[in-house]
Amino acid sequence: MQRKVALVTGGTGGIGTAICRELAQQGCRVVAGYVPSDREVAESWRETQRTLGHDVGVVAGDVTSFESSGEMVREVEANVGPIDILVNCAGITRDKTLRKMEKDQWDAVINTNLNSAFNVTRQVIEGMVTRGYGRIVNISSVNGQRGQFGQTNYSAAKAGIHGFTMALAQEVASRGVTVNTVSPGYVATSMALAVPEEIRKQIVAQIPLGRLATPEEIAFTVGFLVDTRCAYVTGANIAVNGGLYMS
Ligand code: NDP
Repeated sequence: MQRKVALVTGGTGGIGTAICRELAQQGCRVVAGYVPSDREVAESWRETQRTLGHDVGVVAGDVTSFESSGEMVREVEANVGPIDILVNCAGITRDKTLRKMEKDQWDAVINTNLNSAFNVTRQVIEGMVTRGYGRIVNISSVNGQRGQFGQTNYSAAKAGIHGFTMALAQEVASRGVTVNTVSPGYVATSMALAVPEEIRKQIVAQIPLGRLATPEEIAFTVGFLVDTRCAYVTGANIAVNGGLYMS
């Protein structure tokens, strides 16, 4: 069987790295997207993955820009092949209560965490529909489901992501393309470790499983959703949050 081609935005980040490895282990040809200014870091990341036995490519693309996202997709298509699997994983936080939030902090999070889904997915959807196959996974967050103090920007973007998932899932269901959301709880990456330790301890105390998730636990769920056999799950929001929020 032909190896599937997967593009993972934010692929060199904490969760993205685990997703890239998981998909490579499944036999996919995986390309990790990175911020164009991070070329050297991305090349060295790729070398590290190779050394560890994971054959993963890298491609530059700023997901806040429609043009840059288009160039990223076209480069993958030209050098690797048509994209079968898209994982929208790039994301940032700029936490502040709304009363203190600056306009640029709002815009940065909405652009990176929500507008990015349009910027990248719009560039691959036509090809997937034409070929009659596709797997799209959008990485949201438990804080998009329940809200979080200090994260009006992030919670709004992440809630919006699942709206995007559900609408697009309906549009392309008859064409062999599934679209799903994965909503992680707190994962042990630099993003969660940037939360002050005292607050992190309070958060962990609220998690029924009593610990942060590993990036691999998120990647395993993404791996399930992108499997060719996972053809009847679409428009779903899969929570991987240790029981922090149940719906
Ligand atoms: P990381 O910061 O490790 O990874 C985020 C990735 O996104 C980085 O590789 C980053 O690149 C990339 N990125 C940021 N801005 C852009 C941009 N404009 N264009 C392209 N890429 C960009 O965080 P995580 O791995 O923890 O987060 C991954 C996803 O999971 C995010 O969407 C996050 O919101 C979500 N999530 C994380 C949770 C956690 O607890 N860690 C919990 C729930 C959801 P660079 O490093 O070069 O800036």
